[in-house]
Amino acid sequence: MNKLQLKRYAKLLAKAGVNVQRGQWVIVSAGLDQPEFVEWVVEELYRAGAGKVTVEWSHQPVTKLKYKYEKEEVLANVMKWEIERMEAYTKELPAMLHIISEDPDGLAGVDQEKLTHARIGRMKVLKPYNDEMENKYQWCIAAVPGKAWAKKVFPEMQVGRAVEALWDAILKASRADGPDPVREWARHNDEIGGRCDYLNRLGLVALEYKAGNGTDFRVGLIPDGIFAGGGETTLKGRYFNPNIPTEEIFTSPKAGDAEGIVYATKPLSYQGELIEDFSVRFEGGKVVEVRAKKNQHLLEKMISMDEGACMLGECALIADDSPINNAGILFYNTLFDENASCHLALGRGFTNLVKGFESMTQEEIHAKGVNDSMIHVDFMIGCKDMEITGVTARGERVAIFKNGNWAF
Ligand code: ZN
Repeated sequence: MNKLQLKRYAKLLAKAGVNVQRGQWVIVSAGLDQPEFVEWVVEELYRAGAGKVTVEWSHQPVTKLKYKYEKEEVLANVMKWEIERMEAYTKELPAMLHIISEDPDGLAGVDQEKLTHARIGRMKVLKPYNDEMENKYQWCIAAVPGKAWAKKVFPEMQVGRAVEALWDAILKASRADGPDPVREWARHNDEIGGRCDYLNRLGLVALEYKAGNGTDFRVGLIPDGIFAGGGETTLKGRYFNPNIPTEEIFTSPKAGDAEGIVYATKPLSYQGELIEDFSVRFEGGKVVEVRAKKNQHLLEKMISMDEGACMLGECALIADDSPINNAGILFYNTLFDENASCHLALGRGFTNLVKGFESMTQEEIHAKGVNDSMIHVDFMIGCKDMEITGVTARGERVAIFKNGNWAF
């Protein structure tokens, strides 16, 4: 891979990604797959003004051994020094840069139940610190290729070539293949921001989806709901990009208000297996029927996880003509795959997408119609001939998508 381009990508993560401030502490988490790239990122962080950079290395095969051999109570235990570390984080608010490269199948065979219990145990202790830091620091998730991940995406290639091909796909998808990715991201965020403003001004109460594959579906929106996308701002006003790449503009629809049928346009990777060629039918806001050519039972299990699992938590709008979709690759990683196409999510909605959420309790937010559930599973429904129409409170109809792309 072209070293100059990778250095531009490293700069993108330091600047547009976490937007490191002068003197700020930055924590970088990374696997062992691309140590040289991590070195360049660290250098870009210092050059952009970081006062201190800490790299936390991990290695998925070792993580897997930990999950396999350590007892649940050991995994669940939070040690005193970990609490002290969290206290330091809440006080100093370091920026967090997560560079992911994991094998999508790397934790296959791990006892999921043991892991879930251990995570819940740790969460109980750590949640107050995480809550305290919420919306106060910049963070960013971006990707670099690992060998196993590259082989999963490009199984027909020999490993070295597969890694190169995945680098190429990541840079293109992340809009980091041009001469000035930082500038490209400023432009990209402007475009997303403009579309969000327009959608929010419309005051939509419903979206209607239609496509030649049979999709014919209407979903109600929360009157105080917000469309969001692109970068975010900390409470102190620091703009950062939590996800690189990101293409979606999304909102939490009104739970319990959806009618009709949607056909998935990409397979859904769920609990390590693919659910393929499936449709979901809604009545009165709830899923009443699912059909799948492959793994229908998984889909059925998924929607019966809890009360909210059969209702919608997200509507995301993504142009068919986007770099990720144009690549035509299944990445086996949500950071990329959920940005390939218009999607819906079953399960939990976003509690920060209602006007005035800052001064509301979780109960009040859910009472507005934001769905609640243990799960949040995205599935792709976008396609070349998708038409989406917005309906306003006064019954006006506004074209949102035409022929798979933005209509405005
Ligand atoms: Zn999404």
